[in-house]
Amino acid sequence: MVILDGKATSEKIKLEIAQLVKEKVAAGGKRPHLAAILVGNDGASQTYVGNKERACAQVGFNSTLHRFPAEISQEELIKKIQEINGNDDVDGLIVQLPLPEHIDEDAIINAIDPSKDVDGFHPVNVGKMTLGLPTFLPATPYGILRLLDEYGIETSGKHCVIIGRSNIVGRPLANLMSLKDYPGDCTVTICHSRTKNIDNYTKQADIIIAALGSPGFVKGDMVREGAVVVDVGITRVADTSKKSGYRLEGDVDFESVASKASYITPVPGGVGPMTIVSLMVNTLKAAEGK
Ligand code: NAP
Repeated sequence: MVILDGKATSEKIKLEIAQLVKEKVAAGGKRPHLAAILVGNDGASQTYVGNKERACAQVGFNSTLHRFPAEISQEELIKKIQEINGNDDVDGLIVQLPLPEHIDEDAIINAIDPSKDVDGFHPVNVGKMTLGLPTFLPATPYGILRLLDEYGIETSGKHCVIIGRSNIVGRPLANLMSLKDYPGDCTVTICHSRTKNIDNYTKQADIIIAALGSPGFVKGDMVREGAVVVDVGITRVADTSKKSGYRLEGDVDFESVASKASYITPVPGGVGPMTIVSLMVNTLKAAEGK
């Protein structure tokens, strides 16, 4: 069994980006700039945004965080997005999700200029992705593709079973893994909360991608010998032995699955750091006007 080391891979990519930025700035070019909008005080969201800001600093990007109270109106938020859309110094803009209930997430995503939508959530970019056209790929699926590529995992003709059908992970991944490309060319099955007997599917899978948010859901007896297992899940589970008061758990029961898998991602240190570095890759692309 080989660990798909997202932490090491992401550090390597960050060094590559940092070098490119250094050369660009030395040649008189503009430093890439990522703007983030954070609404409210959700602990996990604050951690994610903090990690993104730290990654920007590591690769030499400028970053700006716009914080707003949970009570901000949808109109005010859209006005702020339009202002950032018009700011030529900003290359990429992300709005940390989820948003408070009174705000329509679709309206917010639609307000982002697609050429600055480095999360790849705008319908224009989602459309391009499904057609296999160059665009900003959503960070988590993009990070997973890059990790599979890094380890030379064969995907052509393989059966990829994805558990979860969210717009940010499961569905874009299903699309990308079925494209005529590498990584891709898979036969894809998407499972979700209405799927009956999920283990019937996972037992047939060459590649399992678990993205449902249920700690330890995928057990060893659901996985066939030699499968590649990617664990997207991150759930905070209360743990008084930790300084933070919680630990992170994935959707895969690592202990029972690792002995059967050929490759497996750990949690933490697998998909999480690949997601953040993919956002950096997208921001660099945005800055280069690609
Ligand atoms: P989400 O929007 O809550 O979607 C979860 C999906 O899983 C839904 O499609 C749901 O089905 C399905 N599901 C839930 N319980 C299920 C069950 N018992 N059996 C089968 N399917 C089930 O979640 P998400 O945003 O995609 O995130 C999924 C997990 O990945 C979470 O733990 C999240 O924290 C984590 N995540 C990690 C990263 C990272 O960088 N590592 C990035 C994004 C998300 P229905 O559609 O039928 O409700």
